[in-house]
Amino acid sequence: MNVFKFGEASVKDASGVRNLASIVQKQLPAGVIVVSAMGKTTNALERLVQAYRSQQADAIQTQLQTLRTYHESIMQELGGSFTDAYQTFAQLEKSLDQIPDETYDNTYDQIVSLGEILSTQIVAEYLKQTGVPVRWVDARQLIRTDATFREGRVNWQETEQRIRESVSPNEIIITQGFIGQAPGGLTTTLGREGSDYTAAIFAYCLNATGVTIWKDVPGVLNADPKWFDETVLLPKITYQDAIELAYYGATVIHPKTIKPLQNKSIPLYVRSFVKPEEQGTAIGDYERHLDTPSFIFKIDQVLISLHPNDFSFIAEENLSLIFGQFAQAGVKINLMQNTAISFSVVVDNNPARIPALLKHLQESFRVNYNDGLELITIRYYDQSTIDRVLTEKKLLLEQKSRYTVQLVAKDIAA
Ligand code: ASP
Ligand code: MG
Repeated sequence: MNVFKFGEASVKDASGVRNLASIVQKQLPAGVIVVSAMGKTTNALERLVQAYRSQQADAIQTQLQTLRTYHESIMQELGGSFTDAYQTFAQLEKSLDQIPDETYDNTYDQIVSLGEILSTQIVAEYLKQTGVPVRWVDARQLIRTDATFREGRVNWQETEQRIRESVSPNEIIITQGFIGQAPGGLTTTLGREGSDYTAAIFAYCLNATGVTIWKDVPGVLNADPKWFDETVLLPKITYQDAIELAYYGATVIHPKTIKPLQNKSIPLYVRSFVKPEEQGTAIGDYERHLDTPSFIFKIDQVLISLHPNDFSFIAEENLSLIFGQFAQAGVKINLMQNTAISFSVVVDNNPARIPALLKHLQESFRVNYNDGLELITIRYYDQSTIDRVLTEKKLLLEQKSRYTVQLVAKDIAA
C-alpha cells in the first residue's frame, strides 16, 4: 500500500479536487490519502485566530466570511450536499462565540486544525461521488502527540498501535495532514507545513511501499526557480541529500519527513500533480550522484559577530553562554564559525527577537551586526559554481565541508 500526500496548492480549487480524484483512480488501488487545508486556508485561519484572541468582532466576521465563501464556491462547483463540511463551519462559528480562556497556542491548534478537517470532508465526499470507496478517518484519533501546541511531538508507540489497528491494507482512507491529539483530547498541530510529516508517519506505521508527495513543481530541483534561471530536475537523490537540502532551507519537503522513511527504507517520490504521468524525483537508498550541484538561497540574513569583552578566547564557557542566549531568544542559527577571539553566526532577520538577544549578548561581548545579507548553500560544489554565484557579490564568510559550502555574501550589483 502507498501513501499519497496532496498539499494545499493541489486542492486550491474545484479543478484541483477533480484532478486529485483522477490521480487516485488511476494510481492508488489501496492506501492512505493525506490532504492539507485548501489553498491559503491555514494563513486565513491564523488571521482568524488573531482576531478572535483580540476579540475584534468585525475582523472575526470578515475572516469567517472569506473562509466560508471560498469553501462554498468549491463545494458548489463540485456539486453535492457536503453536510459534514457545513457542520464543521457551524462548529467553528460556535466556538468563536466563546471568550478565549486557553493559551494562544492551544486556541490556535483548535481553530487552525479545522482547515484540514474541512478539506478532507470535501475531498472525501467528492471521491465517493466519483465512485472511489474511500473512508474518511479523523487523524486525531490515530496520531497522538504530547501537549506541545503548534509543535506536537509524536508519541510513536501509541500512534503506531492505533494506525495498525485502524487501517486495513486493502482499503483507501483519506485523512488530514498536520494534526494530532494530545493526552486529554485536545487537538495539536505538528508545525507549519507538517502534512508531509503526517504522510511519513502513516507510511512508517503501515510499512508502506512508498510515499508520493504531489506538488506543483516537477520534483526536487537543484535550485529554486525563484532565484535561479537554470534549474534541473534531480531524478534520484539519497535520503541523506534530501535531509541536508531540507535542513539548509530547500522548501520542497518538510525536514522531519525523511528520517522515519529512511529508517524503514521506504522510498519517497516527489511528483507533479500537473503532469501526473511524469516520474518526478525518487528519494531512497541510492548511490550518491556527485554530478549536479544543488543551491539553496536565503535572503534577509544577519551576520552577528561576537568578541569577548574581557579578551578571553572563544571556548566552552563562552560558547555555552552564547548558545543558551540564542536558544532562549528562540533565534535559530543558520551557520556559525569561530576563530580564537571571535564567534560569528548567521540568522534569519527577525525584528521581533533579535534586538532583545543583542542586548543580552552585549553584556558579555562586543557585538558586530551586519544585515541585508544572503546565505547561499551549495551541495556538491566546485570552484566554478562558487565563482558563478558570487558574481557581483562581496563574500563575507565562507564555510566548506566535504560536500557542502556555505557562503555569506552581500549583493553589490544594486
Ligand atoms: N496546512 C498546513 C500549513 O499550511 C499544513 C500543510 O499544508 O502541510 O502549514
Ligand atoms: Mg503550506
